[in-house]
Amino acid sequence: LFITFEGGDGSGKTTQAGLLEAWLHGLGRTVVRTREPGGTDVGLEVRELVLHHRGEIAPRAEALLYAADRAHHVATLVRPALARGEVVVQDRYIDSSVAYQGAGRVLDPDEVRRVSEWATEGLRPDLTVLLDLDEDAARARLDAAPRRFDRLEAEASEFHARVRAAYLELAAAEPDRFLVVDATRPVDEISAAVRERVEALL
Ligand code: C5P
Ligand code: MG
Repeated sequence: LFITFEGGDGSGKTTQAGLLEAWLHGLGRTVVRTREPGGTDVGLEVRELVLHHRGEIAPRAEALLYAADRAHHVATLVRPALARGEVVVQDRYIDSSVAYQGAGRVLDPDEVRRVSEWATEGLRPDLTVLLDLDEDAARARLDAAPRRFDRLEAEASEFHARVRAAYLELAAAEPDRFLVVDATRPVDEISAAVRERVEALL
């Protein structure tokens, strides 16, 4: 079972992924909790490069770096875990690239997706939880914890509006794969909604 969490910075992906992991653990399932970019040793170097490089990275180069991280991550960690029958709970996956490198950086979203589909040999999540946060809520979370969300601070609000719209479009196109939740709802309500969807897949 492959479950991914998507959404903007500060939308609560990490919190919800952690709660889901704990719940699955309690059910006796073996869970692999991971993230992109940076779920492997190679990925950590890519993450450092792509998030902390001083200066601009050309949009296509950035898209390929995320895809390279993803290719290595899927081949060496995610697919082996799934083959062992484990549950993979992951922060971010292909939808992040379609939303950020596609809609955000204005590359062709379909081309960005095809690169990642090649990189992952077509591995699709069974469930993707989209934690949807509107612009005002995203800004409020940024103000509450400015240092954690420096990317959001650095990027224009219209960039985030495009990312959010792209995510919602992806979810509308694949309603069976997606669970869209209002990220401003209380943490325990969100986690209950997630558990309900996951339960149906176990
Ligand atoms: O939330 P996380 O720490 O994983 O994301 C770090 C940053 O990487 C995000 O703020 C986002 O701007 C960026 N990112 C991206 N494209 C991806 C994945 C992450 O631009 N495919
Ligand atoms: Mg996070």
